[in-house]
Formats: sequence, structure tokens, C-alpha cells
Amino acid sequence: MNSSQQSAISSVPQVPHTRKPAAQSIEKISGESKALLLTADSRQPIVNNYLAHRNVPITIIGGGIHGVSIAIRLLRDVPAAAKSLAIVDRHPQPLTQWRCKTERQGMKFLRSPAVHHITSDALGIVEYAERHNRTNELAPPYSQPSTQLFWDFCNGALAESGLQIPPTKNSVYYQFDVAKLRWDKGAGRFPFRLISTNSEGFRSRCVILAIGTDDCAYVPPEFVQWRHQYPDQVLHASEFTVGCEDKRGDKGNQIVIVGSGLTAGTLAKSLSERGHNVALIARKQLKTEQFDFPPVWLGPKALAEFASETDFQRRYETIQQNRGEGSITPDIMEALLNTPKVDIYPETRVHNIATMDECLPVQRLRVETTHGVMTNVSRIILATGYRFNLRRYGFLTELLTHHQVPLVCGHPRLDADLQLHPIENLFGSGTIAQLQVGPASGNIAGASLAYERLREKLLSHL
Ligand SMILES: Cc1cc2nc3c(=O)[nH]c(=O)nc-3n(C[C@H](O)[C@H](O)[C@H](O)COP(=O)(O)OP(=O)(O)OC[C@H]3O[C@@H](n4cnc5c(N)ncnc54)[C@H](O)[C@@H]3O)c2cc1C
Repeated sequence: MNSSQQSAISSVPQVPHTRKPAAQSIEKISGESKALLLTADSRQPIVNNYLAHRNVPITIIGGGIHGVSIAIRLLRDVPAAAKSLAIVDRHPQPLTQWRCKTERQGMKFLRSPAVHHITSDALGIVEYAERHNRTNELAPPYSQPSTQLFWDFCNGALAESGLQIPPTKNSVYYQFDVAKLRWDKGAGRFPFRLISTNSEGFRSRCVILAIGTDDCAYVPPEFVQWRHQYPDQVLHASEFTVGCEDKRGDKGNQIVIVGSGLTAGTLAKSLSERGHNVALIARKQLKTEQFDFPPVWLGPKALAEFASETDFQRRYETIQQNRGEGSITPDIMEALLNTPKVDIYPETRVHNIATMDECLPVQRLRVETTHGVMTNVSRIILATGYRFNLRRYGFLTELLTHHQVPLVCGHPRLDADLQLHPIENLFGSGTIAQLQVGPASGNIAGASLAYERLREKLLSHL
């Protein structure tokens, strides 16, 4: 990535999370390392063993799909690991990001088959659907689960593993926003120090980064200036909620979506179903694919070939070739083609955005493209995805610089056991592990591939 592309990745505010100042959210019980946590959703106070000043053998940073998948697998292999494990996340509950994103886009079915989920029982979701008479929520041809079925199954799996929502007093899940991660090599058995935004700290022997890609929302260079000029109207998809458009009374106006992946397609479908006129603008022809990477990347042959490539730049290029610019699933594409409310503009670029008549009560935009001009535009949504770059995670800046962690196009060169060379016992799962786990690493299935690599090391820390 060149420097202009780097600078184009502007900082996008994240899904608003419900972090509160220390005084409000954490009330120390004198003498004991305990805290009263108020969960944002339930507003129920929960007593949780707090982490401050503890020495924790294994810490997972990130309670998303990857963090909880690894924890559930580890707890299943060794139930006693609960005493040695902490999952920390800035959100009050596990899987908050996942739930917010799917709900905000109006996503009804997963893209991946039912066998990919957060536990190691391949048939877990299918059996759950059968037990609860919900097999109609498994879509053909690969039994893709509905988002609600997936969520309900996850809820049950979290509860079985002691990670229930909201967390209870025996939970291994902690709301803790990591502001700094330090590695004091040679500082005894617990060389990692984690410091929160509330300046609380604890130590750990081994840390797994399962931090997703949210800090890396990608805004194409030409849109950076327009986003600054029209901050309420030019938004990255991660800032947008489908239902908020209804409240603005914008029906009948034009909404422009830029992008060619499933997020673009799902948003276009959801908005058109709510009565909005949508223009979908893509730089290339739209592609229809069921999966977002070729399934061979879950098999041993492709992964062995990938591992035999010693040039990490080439590995990065292989990932780009296999994930590409995104594609749309056949069912969503069919829906888009069949609705008169969606106009698709392939091989089109936006070359200017300006305001329309200043006298209008609500500001409308004029979007000039290589295929003509769109007027009366109320929103431009950039469904332009994420470009992972470890430097974008502020809590790691000092660590990366101090220990000179080598990066290839923003990705760390992990060892085969997913260790972040040269830091001992710091591991990664998710997109962060792409240069080892391959194109599937950021997906749900990538968590199971990562756990296979991490398992032995984790067991050695128990
Ligand atoms: C709408 C949508 C649909 C998708 N559908 C599918 C699908 O059908 N199949 C599939 O395989 N994949 C799908 N994906 C891709 C992928 O599986 C998900 O993005 C998945 O959520 C990635 O999990 P993760 O744990 O890596 O990241 P996340 O879910 O983003 O979790 C990362 C967590 O780390 C936490 N965190 C980060 N930094 C800190 C910090 N400093 N301190 C504390 N906490 C921190 C965040 O709060 C977050 O909770 C989808 C993605 C999206 C956006």
C-alpha cells in the first residue's frame, strides 16, 4: 500500500459502545478485587470478579466471534481452564460487534454454511434448529443459518461455557477497554501488562489478539475530502443504521451506496425494502459468489501450499487475489435485480459531490459520476470495507515500535503457531493472522483454523 492510500484510510468513529467513566461503571468494593458492573443493555448490576492487579495466565483481547470461539474450544478441551482465562472487550457483552453490525445492515441470513460457528460441534446449529423446530431458518443450498438462529445458538453456547449474556459472577468475560499493552521481557512469569482506559491494570503470561478489523474502516482517497465536507451525509457503512433513514423522512430521495461486496448488496436490499430509492455504484462489474473466499482455503492442500511460500509479500498478494474486491451472494443479487427501487451502476466512479439548491430545507447532494449526474441524494454510504493495518490499533503503537514488530502491508508476520514474532507468547486470531491462516482467517471458519494452531501453546500455559 502506498503512502497516499495509507493516508486515505481515515479514522471512522466506531459502533458507539457504552463505555462509561470509571466512577459510574466500576464501584470498587473495599478490600476485595471486585466490582459492580452495570451492563448497558439490561441496566442490571452484576457482581463480577474484577481484574485489577491480578495475574492471569491467558488473556484474550476481543470478545467477538474469534475471541469467544477460541475460549469456548479451550474450555471444552480443559474445563478447568476457566480459572486461568480472561476475555476482555470494551463492550459489556460478548459478540456485541457482530450483533450490532448484522442488525444495522438488516442482514437476515449468514453467508457461510451452518457448520461454521463458534463451537467445535460441526452440526451444532443444525441440531439446535431441529430441537427448536426452526429448520426453516436454514437456507438452501448450504444451510446458511438466519442471523437470529445463529445468535440464539451462540447465546446457548456462551451460557454452556460460562460466558452467558449478561456475564455472571463466574464469567471469564470482562468489560475492559485496553488502552495499552506492554511486554516487559524478562519480568517474571507474567510479562504482559494490560492497562485500561480507566487506568486499571493486570498482568498476563500469554495474550491472544482477537481484535477484528473495526479500527481499519477504509475510505477511498477521493471520498476523504467529501466526508469532511458533508459529515452527516457521506458515511462509512460501519457508521450507518438502516432504520435511521426512515426517521429522517427521506423516503423518495436517492441514497447512493458505493461498493460491490455483500455489505453494499445487503444495505441496498434492506433500504429498498423500506421504500428508499437506491443507486449502487461499483468500480467494477458486480460478482455473484456464495462465499467470500474459495472454500479450498479451508482444506489442507491449499493451506500447505500457502505455508510453503516463504515470501510474505507474495502471501499477501495471494490473499488479495482470493478475497478480491468483494462479491454478492446469489439470493441478494437476485433480489437487487428484481426490485425497481435499486439501480446498479457497474464500472462507475464518482468524480464530484456538491450541494444542490441552498434554499432547500434539508441539504441534498448532487453526485457526479462517470455515468451521469444523480440529484436529490440524501446519503452516500461507503460500503468500501476494511483494510487491516496493525498500526491503526492505538493500544499497540508503543509495543510495535519498541519491539520492532515487522509488518507486511500492515499485517504481522506471525510464526506458524500464530505468535507475533519477536514477542513471545503474543498470538493473533482473525484477520490479524491472515499471513499464516490464509484467506479464510477473518471469517468464522478462521477461528477454528486458528485454534488448531494455538491449542498446544495455550494448554502449556494452564
Ligand atoms: C455484517 C457482517 C456479516 C458477516 N457475515 C459473515 C458470515 O456469514 N460468515 C463468515 O464467516 N464471516 C462473516 N463476517 C466476517 C467475520 O466473521 C466477522 O466480521 C466476525 O465478527 C469477525 O470476528 P472477530 O472476532 O475477528 O472481530 P469482531 O467481531 O470485530 O471482534 C473484535 C472485538 O475486539 C474488541 N476490541 C478491539 N480492540 C479492543 C481493545 N483495545 N480493548 C478491548 N476490546 C477491543 C472489539 O470491541 C470487538 O468486540 C461478517 C462480517 C460482517 C460485518
